Amino acid sequence: MSKLLKVLFVAAEVAPYAKVGGLADVVGALPKALKGHGHDVRVEMPRYGTIDVGKYGLTDVLGNFPVSLDSQTEQVSAKSALMAGDIPVYFVENARYFSRDAVYGFPDDVERFIAFGRAALEVPKRLGWQPDIIHCNDWHTALVPYWIKTIYKDDPFYAKTATVFTIHNLAYQGIADGRYIDMARIDRGTYAAQHPELPNALNMLSMAILYADAINTVSPTYACEILTPEYGEGLDQLLSSRADRLFGILNGIDYDEFNPATDPRIPVNFDVSSIDKKVEDKYALQRECNMLVDKNVPLIGTVSRLADQKGFDLIARAVDPLMREINMQFVLLGTGEQKYHDLFHQIGERYSDRTGIFLKFDAALAQRIYAGSDMFLMPSRFEPCGLGQMISLRYGTVPVVRATGGLVDTIRDFDPRTGQGNGFVFHEYDSHALSIAIARAAESFKYPDSWRKVMKTGMEQDFSWGASATEYQELYEKALAFKQKEVARA
Ligand code: ADP
Repeated sequence: MSKLLKVLFVAAEVAPYAKVGGLADVVGALPKALKGHGHDVRVEMPRYGTIDVGKYGLTDVLGNFPVSLDSQTEQVSAKSALMAGDIPVYFVENARYFSRDAVYGFPDDVERFIAFGRAALEVPKRLGWQPDIIHCNDWHTALVPYWIKTIYKDDPFYAKTATVFTIHNLAYQGIADGRYIDMARIDRGTYAAQHPELPNALNMLSMAILYADAINTVSPTYACEILTPEYGEGLDQLLSSRADRLFGILNGIDYDEFNPATDPRIPVNFDVSSIDKKVEDKYALQRECNMLVDKNVPLIGTVSRLADQKGFDLIARAVDPLMREINMQFVLLGTGEQKYHDLFHQIGERYSDRTGIFLKFDAALAQRIYAGSDMFLMPSRFEPCGLGQMISLRYGTVPVVRATGGLVDTIRDFDPRTGQGNGFVFHEYDSHALSIAIARAAESFKYPDSWRKVMKTGMEQDFSWGASATEYQELYEKALAFKQKEVARA
């Protein structure tokens, strides 16, 4: 039995309180799995204007206290609630930065998250709860490891605290004007030496790569990919210089929340022993989309942020020939870049009787799509882990994916001769390769026995958090060992 730890998660998104993408799912679920191993786990996030005090039972936990940001001082307070019944979540409040109706998308986002990070380190001190590990996530919280080693260097409260930084997506780095270097209390001389190419622009993410005691990405394959110029987003050399601290741990999904046998958001519940009931969810989805209600027409679903990363330009090129050649239906739920809204709006108009296009965020509809589709499409250009394919597997929906990042670690190409595999995989980032994978899936779909086999394989796999939580526990121990070594050297 390993040592029981006090772990503080710090993140911009945590499900169910605020969710934009997979980050929220991870920080909403991993703490529960770690708590199950006996650790004392707590979570910190901003209290956005959208987080309802009454709905989540938030109560006051800390009255106003000052947080100094370079020349200005902000008054901050904190509320708390219990997540999943027993995990304290602290919500950092500041009217100026967080009382807004969205998580991101504001011109002062970098400033907002500098303020959040500074406040996040003050809350545990004021509560007298001393974490062994501060687990930071993505660029929003990337300065925390730096501050632990600078501003708080001589503070006995954090003397033994190690930091872990998880990269959920390297493409978002929190880059801003050089004046924020001062606001972040970063020493300009040291920063310029560490960032010779852009000495006068703040790159928040780079600071965690340099200062966290341990770093990980959300799949083993992505951890290797980001060391190459193709996937490194300009940080591959910096990451390579810290390769001894860099690890890959596959995300899981919350098997309580994503359970087709109990999910209240889907019309008909089913599991692997009642797999035939899944077709009822397909009929309901076909009705919802005003499409032909027919079990023999393959229905392909997608639920995704509409961003370049997700490979939608491939769909733009492949859609007309595919719709011409294959009798299939297509449902998409997503929001994001305007060009993709326009693209899918047009596709919806062109094939109105064979598509359902929903350009919004809707967690319940997402579940109806996971449950009601036959296949789930993820043609990603890059994918740090990807949750959609794991949720689909759980709902008996067969993923069609490009072999990149976490999709490599979770999806094996189906071979109809051996019956091995849980999805359909293509390699080249190319619309023909995508079309061939969809055509192969549509062909296999015609053979009910073989299709049932691939569905069952996915449903019987285990992508819950159990195994990954054990790996995080090991990562925390490594981080603590790195920290101890450093303290001993100093
Ligand atoms: P990313 O984190 O890059 O957005 P992931 O596949 O890791 O991608 O996670 C995406 C998560 O967000 C999944 O749980 C997916 O179902 C959900 N999601 C994405 N877009 C929407 C949407 N428009 N409505 C509801 N859920 C969505």
